[in-house]
Amino acid sequence: MSALAETLPASPESIFDPELDAARTTVIDGLLKRGFPLMQFPPELEREFRQAGLEARRVHILKSGFISLLVFNVFLVADYLMLPDVFALALVLRLLVFTPLALLFLWAFAGGRIRLFQQVSPSGLELISMGSGLAAAALLTFILCISSSPLAYLYHIGFMVVITYGNIVQRLRFWYAVAFSLILLALHVVGIYALPSFPDRMVLPLVSMVLSSAAFTLTANYALENDDRRRFLLTERERGLIRSLTQTQVRLRELSRVDELTGLYNRRHFETSVQQLWQRASFGRTPLAIFMIDVDHFKMFNDHYGHPAGDACLKQVCQVFKQTLNGQGVIVARYGGEEFIAAIPNLDEAATLALAEQVRAQVERCQIPHARSTTSSVVTASLGVAWCEARPGMKVEHLMSLADGALYDAKHQGRNRVCSQST
Ligand code: GH3
Ligand code: MG
Ligand code: MG
Repeated sequence: MSALAETLPASPESIFDPELDAARTTVIDGLLKRGFPLMQFPPELEREFRQAGLEARRVHILKSGFISLLVFNVFLVADYLMLPDVFALALVLRLLVFTPLALLFLWAFAGGRIRLFQQVSPSGLELISMGSGLAAAALLTFILCISSSPLAYLYHIGFMVVITYGNIVQRLRFWYAVAFSLILLALHVVGIYALPSFPDRMVLPLVSMVLSSAAFTLTANYALENDDRRRFLLTERERGLIRSLTQTQVRLRELSRVDELTGLYNRRHFETSVQQLWQRASFGRTPLAIFMIDVDHFKMFNDHYGHPAGDACLKQVCQVFKQTLNGQGVIVARYGGEEFIAAIPNLDEAATLALAEQVRAQVERCQIPHARSTTSSVVTASLGVAWCEARPGMKVEHLMSLADGALYDAKHQGRNRVCSQST
């Protein structure tokens, strides 16, 4: 894009929308202040929260899955001591059925080898995690129901372990943890009724133990998720702040180099960037031209039509510059009031003069009436052009003062014309 055609550069983060961002910050601030007792954000934020934690959650579920599988098999010792009558079956079920299946599952899950696991959704992940605990609990209930060991009822303590696994180790999202705990409590009750030898006086103590372990672990789960969500909100708020600061910084930088009325670069920016253009040109000994452009009798225009009309006229004239001076590497700037400057690289002298003449003619072609001009009935401009083949040892300031001299000549020779000087 030519420097000319440029007004304000696009923002570096084009998706940034200050209004949307402010609305989002308000929602986040509200949530941080009021809390979120139902463990739920507004839909869009909720989706982002779940998505943001997805990979970490995947890794956690995998790691804790392997550890839990190990612990699951250590319970064979309890099987042996408490349910010797079904130990052989427990051994087969734990080691030869559940473990290989779980290992296969974890292997497939870890490498995303099954399509379903490649793009698993946050809810899918919770269901997988829940499923692993429920499978273990179903196995527990089954072993329990077929045993006639007098100690079988104590096996119900295992439900506390599985509840802890889901709610604390796997850290299911709160509402999934609630559902998981309820299903386990139901399995626990089924286990009590399915076991004929369950001593009546042990029902209450065991049920209350399993129930309180569900209540305690859910409380901890709630607190953990609350921290998780709060951390997410704080990070998001910080990100929003950084985004808006970056945006302000970019905007300020733009404002410091662009002229507000015309959208062209300002003089300060021109003076810095023309040095770079000059350096490049003198290194390659390529041509560089400077145009000084001044609107003719502009004071009269203002006096006659008023200052706002003068502003509109300047804007219109600048459009001409933007459209005509749009070559590669060209810099155009507002140099002062109704005076403009352009640096044009890589054109030979004849092409430079033709371009200057084109600018002059296009301004005239705008046909902006100027009743007080002694030069024409419409607004015109005079151009001073200086051209050279840049070389080390020369200074661009010299070229600029030549262009200024040429502009002076154009004014004195009657305005609405192009005069040139070259070194
Ligand atoms: P010449 O043909 O010799 O250039 O005459 P001129 O009247 O154009 O030059 P002069 O320097 O006497 O007047 C320039 C005028 O430009 C004076 C000032 O009021 C006007 N001007 C400068 N900046 C602005 C601006 O931003 N808006 C408007 N409307 N007028 C401006
Ligand atoms: Mg003027
Ligand atoms: Mg002037």
